[in-house]
Amino acid sequence: MLEGHFLLSSGLHSSVYLQCALVLQHPDQAAEFGQAIADEFRGRDIHLVASPAIGGIIVGHEVARALGARFIWTERQDGQMTLRRGFTVSPNEKTLVVEDVITTGGSTRDTIAALRSSGADVIGAASIIDRSGGHVDVGVPLVSLASLSVPSVDAANCEACKYGTPLVKPGSRKSA
Ligand SMILES: [Zn+2]
Repeated sequence: MLEGHFLLSSGLHSSVYLQCALVLQHPDQAAEFGQAIADEFRGRDIHLVASPAIGGIIVGHEVARALGARFIWTERQDGQMTLRRGFTVSPNEKTLVVEDVITTGGSTRDTIAALRSSGADVIGAASIIDRSGGHVDVGVPLVSLASLSVPSVDAANCEACKYGTPLVKPGSRKSA
């Protein structure tokens, strides 16, 4: 969790930004998150874990390891979430979708749709962090290890803008 003055992908400004990659760079911590998510789904006969690339891949892989399941990922091609790289699912294969951070739930919903169109039985979704404060609906039961509402405002109402604090677009090294 970074504090500063950030431009979110929604276009709003926030004093808080969550960068899960900074936690997941430590494999032992990634494994702990994977175990904690897996613990919520034990005994559900999950054979497959799938994650939207790139953010979900590391934690999804750890969840799959903890459940003894297979792991695949989806990625966008011309804006459409798809299974590529020869990944396939078996008919009615019980599947869990895992992300690092859920904000609007769009990537998870699109991943669920891609898996279902290939025949998977998606029984749930999980994330390390739910940034919607529990308001997001992905169409299947969602488990998040932590839930928080991150305050965000438009530029006209942004205190940091008033004080002239440089605006940072996360993921780039430049100020906006
Ligand atoms: Zn601002």
